[in-house]
Amino acid sequence: MHAMVLKKLGDPLEWTELPDPIPGPGEIRVKVAACGVCRTDLHVVDGELPDPGVPIIPGHEIVGRVEAIGSNVEGLHVGQRVGIPWLGHTCGVCPYCRGEHENLCDRPLFTGYTRDGGFATATLADARYAFPLAEGGSDVDFAPLLCAGLIGWRSLVTAGGGGKLGLYGFGAAAHIVAQVARWQGRSVFAFTRAGDIPTQEFARRLGAAWAGGSEEMPPEPLDAAIIFAPVGDLVPLALKAVRKGARVVCAGIHMSDIPSFPYRLLWEERQLVSVANLTRQDGIDFLRLVPEIGIVTATTRYPLRQANQALADLRAGRFEGAAVLVP
Ligand SMILES: [Zn+2]
Ligand SMILES: [Zn+2]
Repeated sequence: MHAMVLKKLGDPLEWTELPDPIPGPGEIRVKVAACGVCRTDLHVVDGELPDPGVPIIPGHEIVGRVEAIGSNVEGLHVGQRVGIPWLGHTCGVCPYCRGEHENLCDRPLFTGYTRDGGFATATLADARYAFPLAEGGSDVDFAPLLCAGLIGWRSLVTAGGGGKLGLYGFGAAAHIVAQVARWQGRSVFAFTRAGDIPTQEFARRLGAAWAGGSEEMPPEPLDAAIIFAPVGDLVPLALKAVRKGARVVCAGIHMSDIPSFPYRLLWEERQLVSVANLTRQDGIDFLRLVPEIGIVTATTRYPLRQANQALADLRAGRFEGAAVLVP
Protein backbone atom coordinates (compact mmCIF):
# COMPACT_ATOMS: atom_id res chain seq x y z
CA MET A 1 0.00 0.00 0.00
CA HIS A 2 0.93 3.65 -0.27
CA ALA A 3 0.25 6.45 2.15
CA MET A 4 0.95 10.11 2.79
CA VAL A 5 2.70 9.85 6.15
CA LEU A 6 3.31 12.55 8.76
CA LYS A 7 6.82 11.67 9.92
CA LYS A 8 7.60 14.83 11.89
CA LEU A 9 5.15 17.42 13.25
CA GLY A 10 5.04 20.49 11.06
CA ASP A 11 6.72 18.75 8.09
CA PRO A 12 4.93 18.03 4.80
CA LEU A 13 3.43 14.55 4.49
CA GLU A 14 5.66 12.06 2.65
CA TRP A 15 4.53 9.61 -0.05
CA THR A 16 5.55 6.27 1.43
CA GLU A 17 5.28 2.61 0.42
CA LEU A 18 4.28 0.31 3.27
CA PRO A 19 3.46 -3.40 3.60
CA ASP A 20 -0.27 -4.18 3.35
CA PRO A 21 -1.48 -4.29 6.97
CA ILE A 22 -2.97 -7.59 8.17
CA PRO A 23 -6.22 -7.17 10.12
CA GLY A 24 -5.99 -8.52 13.66
CA PRO A 25 -8.92 -9.81 15.74
CA GLY A 26 -11.90 -7.47 15.38
CA GLU A 27 -10.29 -5.50 12.56
CA ILE A 28 -10.93 -5.00 8.87
CA ARG A 29 -8.69 -3.74 6.10
CA VAL A 30 -10.41 -1.22 3.91
CA LYS A 31 -9.37 -0.30 0.39
CA VAL A 32 -9.75 3.48 0.43
CA ALA A 33 -11.88 4.97 -2.35
CA ALA A 34 -11.95 8.53 -1.04
CA CYS A 35 -10.85 10.38 2.09
CA GLY A 36 -11.99 13.86 3.02
CA VAL A 37 -9.61 16.49 4.36
CA CYS A 38 -10.76 18.06 7.62
CA ARG A 39 -9.52 21.07 9.57
CA THR A 40 -8.56 18.61 12.32
CA ASP A 41 -5.97 17.16 9.91
CA LEU A 42 -4.35 20.60 9.89
CA HIS A 43 -4.30 20.61 13.69
CA VAL A 44 -2.70 17.13 13.61
CA VAL A 45 0.07 18.06 11.17
CA ASP A 46 0.68 21.37 12.94
CA GLY A 47 1.10 19.54 16.29
CA GLU A 48 -1.73 21.52 17.90
CA LEU A 49 -3.37 18.48 19.51
CA PRO A 50 -2.04 16.85 22.70
CA ASP A 51 0.09 13.69 22.62
CA PRO A 52 0.53 13.38 18.87
CA GLY A 53 2.09 10.13 17.82
CA VAL A 54 4.31 10.20 14.74
CA PRO A 55 4.70 8.65 12.29
CA ILE A 56 0.97 8.74 11.60
CA ILE A 57 -1.24 8.58 8.50
CA PRO A 58 -3.86 11.37 8.82
CA GLY A 59 -7.40 11.26 7.45
CA HIS A 60 -10.68 10.34 9.15
CA GLU A 61 -13.40 10.78 6.51
CA ILE A 62 -12.86 7.47 4.75
CA VAL A 63 -15.13 5.79 2.25
CA GLY A 64 -13.93 2.45 0.96
CA ARG A 65 -14.57 -1.25 0.63
CA VAL A 66 -13.73 -4.09 3.00
CA GLU A 67 -10.75 -5.91 1.54
CA ALA A 68 -9.77 -8.31 4.35
CA ILE A 69 -11.39 -9.35 7.60
CA GLY A 70 -9.75 -10.47 10.86
CA SER A 71 -11.20 -12.95 13.32
CA ASN A 72 -14.23 -12.13 15.48
CA VAL A 73 -15.78 -9.67 13.03
CA GLU A 74 -19.53 -9.91 12.58
CA GLY A 75 -21.87 -8.32 10.09
CA LEU A 76 -19.33 -7.21 7.47
CA HIS A 77 -18.23 -8.96 4.29
CA VAL A 78 -15.44 -8.54 1.76
CA GLY A 79 -16.43 -5.98 -0.86
CA GLN A 80 -18.88 -4.17 1.42
CA ARG A 81 -18.92 -0.39 1.26
CA VAL A 82 -18.04 1.20 4.61
CA GLY A 83 -17.29 4.57 6.15
CA ILE A 84 -14.55 5.05 8.74
CA PRO A 85 -14.99 8.08 11.01
CA TRP A 86 -12.84 9.94 13.56
CA LEU A 87 -13.91 7.74 16.50
CA GLY A 88 -11.69 4.71 15.92
CA HIS A 89 -11.96 2.84 19.21
CA THR A 90 -13.26 3.25 22.76
CA CYS A 91 -12.49 1.27 25.91
CA GLY A 92 -16.08 0.23 26.65
CA VAL A 93 -15.53 0.20 30.44
CA CYS A 94 -14.81 3.78 31.58
CA PRO A 95 -17.63 5.83 33.16
CA TYR A 96 -18.15 7.73 29.89
CA CYS A 97 -18.42 4.60 27.76
CA ARG A 98 -20.82 3.04 30.27
CA GLY A 99 -22.83 6.26 30.45
CA GLU A 100 -23.53 6.52 26.71
CA HIS A 101 -20.88 9.21 26.26
CA GLU A 102 -18.33 7.14 24.37
CA ASN A 103 -17.30 10.33 22.57
CA LEU A 104 -15.64 11.32 25.88
CA CYS A 105 -13.97 7.91 26.50
CA ASP A 106 -10.89 8.04 28.76
CA ARG A 107 -8.90 5.69 26.50
CA PRO A 108 -10.05 6.30 22.93
CA LEU A 109 -8.28 5.96 19.61
CA PHE A 110 -8.96 8.47 16.87
CA THR A 111 -8.57 7.68 13.19
CA GLY A 112 -5.80 9.69 11.56
CA TYR A 113 -4.56 11.02 14.91
CA THR A 114 -3.79 8.17 17.32
CA ARG A 115 -4.34 5.34 14.83
CA ASP A 116 -3.51 5.38 11.13
CA GLY A 117 -6.13 6.92 8.87
CA GLY A 118 -7.17 7.27 5.27
CA PHE A 119 -4.59 9.41 3.45
CA ALA A 120 -3.61 6.06 1.98
CA THR A 121 -4.64 3.39 -0.48
CA ALA A 122 -5.67 1.10 2.41
CA THR A 123 -6.27 1.32 6.15
CA LEU A 124 -7.04 -0.90 9.11
CA ALA A 125 -10.10 -0.17 11.22
CA ASP A 126 -11.75 -1.59 14.33
CA ALA A 127 -14.79 -3.16 12.67
CA ARG A 128 -17.16 -2.04 15.46
CA TYR A 129 -16.55 1.61 14.59
CA ALA A 130 -16.98 1.27 10.83
CA PHE A 131 -20.35 2.30 9.41
CA PRO A 132 -21.81 0.00 6.73
CA LEU A 133 -22.87 2.28 3.86
CA ALA A 134 -25.60 1.75 1.31
CA GLU A 135 -24.59 1.41 -2.32
CA GLY A 136 -25.12 4.29 -4.69
CA GLY A 137 -23.77 7.81 -4.96
CA SER A 138 -20.21 8.91 -5.32
CA ASP A 139 -17.54 7.98 -2.76
CA VAL A 140 -16.00 11.44 -3.11
CA ASP A 141 -19.30 13.21 -2.42
CA PHE A 142 -19.96 10.99 0.58
CA ALA A 143 -16.57 11.33 2.31
CA PRO A 144 -17.14 14.77 3.93
CA LEU A 145 -20.27 13.44 5.64
CA LEU A 146 -18.08 11.23 7.84
CA CYS A 147 -16.68 14.10 9.90
CA ALA A 148 -17.93 17.46 8.67
CA GLY A 149 -21.39 15.91 8.47
CA LEU A 150 -21.23 13.89 11.68
CA ILE A 151 -19.67 16.54 13.92
CA GLY A 152 -21.96 19.06 12.28
CA TRP A 153 -24.93 16.86 13.14
CA ARG A 154 -23.85 16.46 16.78
CA SER A 155 -23.35 20.24 16.99
CA LEU A 156 -26.78 20.87 15.51
CA VAL A 157 -28.46 18.52 17.98
CA THR A 158 -26.53 20.16 20.84
CA ALA A 159 -27.59 23.62 19.63
CA GLY A 160 -31.23 22.73 20.34
CA GLY A 161 -34.31 23.23 18.25
CA GLY A 162 -34.39 26.99 17.73
CA GLY A 163 -35.59 28.29 14.38
CA LYS A 164 -32.90 30.91 13.77
CA LEU A 165 -29.48 29.26 13.60
CA GLY A 166 -26.16 31.10 13.21
CA LEU A 167 -23.16 29.31 11.63
CA TYR A 168 -19.75 30.90 12.16
CA GLY A 169 -17.22 29.72 9.57
CA PHE A 170 -18.90 28.45 6.43
CA GLY A 171 -16.67 25.58 5.34
CA ALA A 172 -17.09 21.83 5.03
CA ALA A 173 -19.20 21.30 8.16
CA ALA A 174 -21.39 24.41 7.89
CA HIS A 175 -22.27 23.79 4.25
CA ILE A 176 -23.67 20.39 5.26
CA VAL A 177 -25.33 21.60 8.49
CA ALA A 178 -27.00 24.44 6.58
CA GLN A 179 -28.74 21.89 4.37
CA VAL A 180 -29.84 19.79 7.34
CA ALA A 181 -31.13 22.88 9.18
CA ARG A 182 -33.02 24.06 6.12
CA TRP A 183 -34.56 20.59 5.76
CA GLN A 184 -35.66 20.86 9.41
CA GLY A 185 -37.37 24.14 8.56
CA ARG A 186 -34.90 26.46 10.29
CA SER A 187 -33.48 29.74 9.00
CA VAL A 188 -29.71 29.81 8.59
CA PHE A 189 -27.56 32.90 9.22
CA ALA A 190 -24.04 32.42 7.80
CA PHE A 191 -21.03 34.31 9.15
CA THR A 192 -17.77 34.36 7.19
CA ARG A 193 -14.50 36.25 7.30
CA ALA A 194 -15.22 39.95 6.75
CA GLY A 195 -15.49 40.69 3.02
CA ASP A 196 -15.52 37.02 1.93
CA ILE A 197 -18.26 37.67 -0.64
CA PRO A 198 -17.81 34.36 -2.56
CA THR A 199 -18.41 32.31 0.61
CA GLN A 200 -21.39 34.50 1.56
CA GLU A 201 -22.86 33.87 -1.90
CA PHE A 202 -22.14 30.15 -1.51
CA ALA A 203 -24.12 30.21 1.78
CA ARG A 204 -27.05 31.99 0.14
CA ARG A 205 -27.08 29.45 -2.68
CA LEU A 206 -27.45 26.75 -0.01
CA GLY A 207 -30.50 28.52 1.37
CA ALA A 208 -29.06 30.86 4.04
CA ALA A 209 -31.58 33.58 4.89
CA TRP A 210 -28.72 36.00 5.59
CA ALA A 211 -24.95 35.98 5.13
CA GLY A 212 -22.41 38.50 6.35
CA GLY A 213 -19.08 39.08 8.08
CA SER A 214 -18.55 37.64 11.54
CA GLU A 215 -18.24 41.12 13.09
CA GLU A 216 -21.72 42.01 11.86
CA MET A 217 -24.89 41.56 13.89
CA PRO A 218 -27.62 39.46 12.28
CA PRO A 219 -30.87 41.27 11.43
CA GLU A 220 -32.59 39.60 14.39
CA PRO A 221 -31.30 37.80 17.50
CA LEU A 222 -30.44 34.14 16.91
CA ASP A 223 -31.91 31.16 18.79
CA ALA A 224 -28.58 29.31 18.66
CA ALA A 225 -25.15 29.53 17.07
CA ILE A 226 -22.47 27.01 16.12
CA ILE A 227 -18.86 28.11 15.77
CA PHE A 228 -16.95 25.95 13.26
CA ALA A 229 -14.01 28.31 12.64
CA PRO A 230 -11.09 27.73 15.06
CA VAL A 231 -11.13 31.38 16.12
CA GLY A 232 -11.68 32.27 19.79
CA ASP A 233 -12.61 35.88 18.90
CA LEU A 234 -15.87 34.52 17.50
CA VAL A 235 -17.11 33.41 20.94
CA PRO A 236 -18.03 36.87 22.30
CA LEU A 237 -19.38 37.84 18.87
CA ALA A 238 -21.67 34.82 18.79
CA LEU A 239 -22.81 35.39 22.39
CA LYS A 240 -23.69 38.95 21.37
CA ALA A 241 -25.71 37.69 18.39
CA VAL A 242 -27.93 35.21 20.29
CA ARG A 243 -31.07 35.87 22.32
CA LYS A 244 -31.57 35.30 26.05
CA GLY A 245 -31.35 31.63 27.03
CA ALA A 246 -29.71 30.64 23.73
CA ARG A 247 -26.83 28.26 23.31
CA VAL A 248 -23.51 28.83 21.53
CA VAL A 249 -21.77 25.60 20.50
CA CYS A 250 -18.03 25.42 19.78
CA ALA A 251 -17.65 22.54 17.31
CA GLY A 252 -13.91 22.49 16.67
CA ILE A 253 -11.28 20.34 18.36
CA HIS A 254 -8.93 23.31 18.67
CA MET A 255 -9.50 27.05 18.89
CA SER A 256 -7.32 30.08 19.42
CA ASP A 257 -7.66 31.67 22.87
CA ILE A 258 -11.02 33.22 23.68
CA PRO A 259 -10.58 36.89 24.58
CA SER A 260 -12.04 38.14 27.86
CA PHE A 261 -15.50 39.60 27.48
CA PRO A 262 -18.07 41.34 29.68
CA TYR A 263 -20.20 39.03 31.76
CA ARG A 264 -23.36 40.63 30.36
CA LEU A 265 -22.76 38.68 27.09
CA LEU A 266 -23.25 35.42 28.99
CA TRP A 267 -25.86 36.78 31.42
CA GLU A 268 -29.54 35.94 30.95
CA GLU A 269 -28.89 32.23 30.79
CA ARG A 270 -26.96 32.14 27.56
CA GLN A 271 -24.92 28.91 27.42
CA LEU A 272 -21.51 28.31 25.95
CA VAL A 273 -20.68 24.64 25.30
CA SER A 274 -18.35 22.52 23.20
CA VAL A 275 -18.89 19.38 21.18
CA ALA A 276 -16.22 16.68 21.23
CA ASN A 277 -15.91 13.75 18.82
CA LEU A 278 -18.93 11.62 17.99
CA THR A 279 -20.70 8.55 19.27
CA ARG A 280 -21.58 5.65 17.01
CA GLN A 281 -25.21 6.50 17.67
CA ASP A 282 -24.62 9.97 16.16
CA GLY A 283 -23.41 8.23 13.02
CA ILE A 284 -26.38 5.87 12.89
CA ASP A 285 -28.84 8.74 13.41
CA PHE A 286 -27.23 11.02 10.85
CA LEU A 287 -26.46 8.47 8.14
CA ARG A 288 -30.06 7.27 8.30
CA LEU A 289 -31.25 10.79 7.46
CA VAL A 290 -28.74 11.52 4.69
CA PRO A 291 -30.76 10.00 1.80
CA GLU A 292 -33.95 11.61 3.08
CA ILE A 293 -32.42 15.09 3.30
CA GLY A 294 -30.73 14.77 -0.07
CA ILE A 295 -27.53 16.49 1.09
CA VAL A 296 -25.37 17.70 -1.78
CA THR A 297 -21.73 18.20 -0.81
CA ALA A 298 -19.45 20.63 -2.61
CA THR A 299 -16.12 18.88 -3.08
CA THR A 300 -12.75 19.61 -4.62
CA ARG A 301 -10.86 16.43 -5.41
CA TYR A 302 -7.10 15.96 -5.23
CA PRO A 303 -4.99 12.91 -6.06
CA LEU A 304 -3.75 11.28 -2.83
CA ARG A 305 -0.19 12.34 -3.63
CA GLN A 306 -1.30 15.98 -3.54
CA ALA A 307 -2.45 15.81 0.09
CA ASN A 308 -0.05 18.60 1.04
CA GLN A 309 -1.61 20.86 -1.58
CA ALA A 310 -5.09 20.04 -0.30
CA LEU A 311 -4.03 20.92 3.26
CA ALA A 312 -2.46 24.19 2.07
CA ASP A 313 -5.60 25.11 0.12
CA LEU A 314 -7.78 24.35 3.14
CA ARG A 315 -5.57 26.53 5.33
CA ALA A 316 -5.83 29.39 2.84
CA GLY A 317 -9.57 28.93 2.24
CA ARG A 318 -9.03 28.42 -1.49
CA PHE A 319 -12.13 26.28 -2.13
CA GLU A 320 -15.77 26.16 -1.05
CA GLY A 321 -17.02 23.06 0.75
CA ALA A 322 -14.65 20.15 1.30
CA ALA A 323 -11.43 18.76 -0.16
CA VAL A 324 -11.34 15.02 -0.85
CA LEU A 325 -8.29 12.85 -1.63
CA VAL A 326 -8.62 10.04 -4.15
CA PRO A 327 -5.98 7.27 -4.31
ZN1 LIG B 1 -14.13 4.48 27.55
ZN1 LIG C 1 -12.74 15.97 11.14
